[in-house]
Amino acid sequence: MKKVGLTGGIGVGKTYIARIFKQLGCPIFFADYEAKICMQEIKELRNEIIKNFGDLTFIDGVLQKDMLARVIFNDNKKIKLINHIVHPYVIDAFNKWCEMQETDFVIKEAAILFESNSNIGLDKIICVSAPIDLRIKRVMSRDKCSKDTVIKKIQNQMSEDEKMKLSDFVIVNNERERLLAQIINIYNELAN
Ligand code: ATP
Repeated sequence: MKKVGLTGGIGVGKTYIARIFKQLGCPIFFADYEAKICMQEIKELRNEIIKNFGDLTFIDGVLQKDMLARVIFNDNKKIKLINHIVHPYVIDAFNKWCEMQETDFVIKEAAILFESNSNIGLDKIICVSAPIDLRIKRVMSRDKCSKDTVIKKIQNQMSEDEKMKLSDFVIVNNERERLLAQIINIYNELAN
């Protein structure tokens, strides 16, 4: 079974594209979602988070996502630290999930694939690309947040150029190029 990474910066449309791959029959592991489940459910991980980010990160055993987001927002060191703590658990969850799949290939969707070294062990990487103005517009409308907030998040991520260089395929999601044709071409190549 091929393990394929699907990555790209905030607002490029990774989840949108992952859902299309899913419609075509490919199982998808949504790493951000799974990371939250690991943080919520694995006691050892929960304790590590509390040790590093304080007691208020969990109230009655419930992860305080907004509080944690506020603590790490715009602080590269803290973002790196939380990723360093959480990602080994996500990698483990991904490997266990893969064992249950029966398709020729599976996709792991992750915003910080390279930054968290989660590309290691994957056979191919797909990078999604989109113009920065469109990314900002999409995230502002999806998350009801300000332009500044999105720009700061983009600045904290690895650049699109770097991600593209490290990838095997690039999907341009600029709402002008034909998206489905690009996805189907990659799907067919991976299925062979
Ligand atoms: P994040 O890193 O924040 O998870 P993402 O890369 O997964 O972002 P999406 O959530 O997939 O981005 O897309 C951002 C928004 O843009 C969503 O509301 C999505 O529905 C919309 N969108 C993405 N691509 C397209 C498209 N080709 N046509 C229309 N809407 C799109």
